[in-house]
Amino acid sequence: MQHINTKCVQAGYTPKSGEPRVVPIYQSTTFKYDTGEAMGALFDLQASGYFYTRLQNPTNDCVAAKIAELEGGVGAMLTSSGQAASFFSISNICSAGDHFVSTSTIYGGTFNLFAVTMKKYGIDVTFVDPDAPEEEIMKAFRPNTKAMFAETIANPALIITDIEKMARIAHANNVPLIVDNTFPTPINCRPIEWGADIVIHSTTKYMDGHATSVGGVIVDSGNFDWEKAGKFPELVEPDESYHGVSYVKQFGRAAYITKCTTHLMRDIGAIPSPNNAFLLNIGLETLFLRVERHCQNAMEVAKFLENNEKIAWVNYAGLESSKYHDLANKLMPNGTCGVVSFGVKGGREAASKFMENLKLAAIVTHVADARTCVLHPASTTHRQLTDKQLEECGVGADMIRLSVGIEYVGDIIADIEQALANI
Ligand SMILES: *Cc1c(COP(=O)(O)O)cnc(C)c1O
Repeated sequence: MQHINTKCVQAGYTPKSGEPRVVPIYQSTTFKYDTGEAMGALFDLQASGYFYTRLQNPTNDCVAAKIAELEGGVGAMLTSSGQAASFFSISNICSAGDHFVSTSTIYGGTFNLFAVTMKKYGIDVTFVDPDAPEEEIMKAFRPNTKAMFAETIANPALIITDIEKMARIAHANNVPLIVDNTFPTPINCRPIEWGADIVIHSTTKYMDGHATSVGGVIVDSGNFDWEKAGKFPELVEPDESYHGVSYVKQFGRAAYITKCTTHLMRDIGAIPSPNNAFLLNIGLETLFLRVERHCQNAMEVAKFLENNEKIAWVNYAGLESSKYHDLANKLMPNGTCGVVSFGVKGGREAASKFMENLKLAAIVTHVADARTCVLHPASTTHRQLTDKQLEECGVGADMIRLSVGIEYVGDIIADIEQALANI
């Protein structure tokens, strides 16, 4: 089997003799057939092929196949954003009246999606503290619970989730574990190897890596036994909206991801444009190089901050002072991510002065791209949340989230140094 670095460069697309070396952009909404019969077989899921880009597109499929290989799954589907990936991953197996369990320390957008929007659709969620003991998390499960959701490294709290523990809990309750693996990327952590069943990403972040395209992906490990779990009739019983197909019987280990594509994507249609998938693929080709440098730089920045007297606290799992250091070493021995969070002494006011003083690091609502950037979550991405919800997410009012880029690290540190000196 090839090394993951090789897969980043080459997986998902193998041109035949005389074909383009680079994945072509199939910027076409539709595909031509010689007979209605031939196209009908596609609609019946009797044959595989392309007919309409909302369902499948060759460019998008190459990129999805690459990400499936990187995560070690049996199949993947690209979505138009990370938010769409989170929404699809749950609603593929939960209907009105169902319930799922999620860690509370997830990305603010996901928290709102789960706590407000999905609740409106009748899908209920219980949030749990990822650090709580197993027995306590078990209490959140009900007979109608259909999934467990967690983030490998919580954005922006940088809490590391013990994926093995969460998988044990989910499987004891006959539900799949869905993990948002955006921050570590499959270069640093492959949740499927620790027991996760479904992996999702906001590809907008490190995977794209250059802040050009919003996107998401869902990867199916193929490991969850939907039939044996006895809770997922929509994957096992005939689907009347698809000519009575049983996803488990017809597609085996790819049942979940096939339903996600043929059913949810058909009906909801949150696809990326082939052009965005092409840009994502260019990002993926250098993912392993960039992630390594992000982590090296972040480690040096974290050490610098920890030794600076104007800094109140630093949170980075690479530091020995982090309570997640051992867990991070287990799940992510090569490093966690390039995001460091910290508090400047003097609270909210000193934090905003520090941000204004920065010259190289830009204030943007983004994270995890090649350029160093900085954000104050409490006044931006998380401003809809109440103080109590902020606390549940692990986001303090003084928290600064620094996304360390791949620039020369001496320049990044010099910028932070001068910004601190001028508070
Ligand atoms: C950004 C982010 C999302 C949402 O992704 P979009 O691509 O912005 O829709 C979800 N999860 C995590 C961990 C994120 O960082």
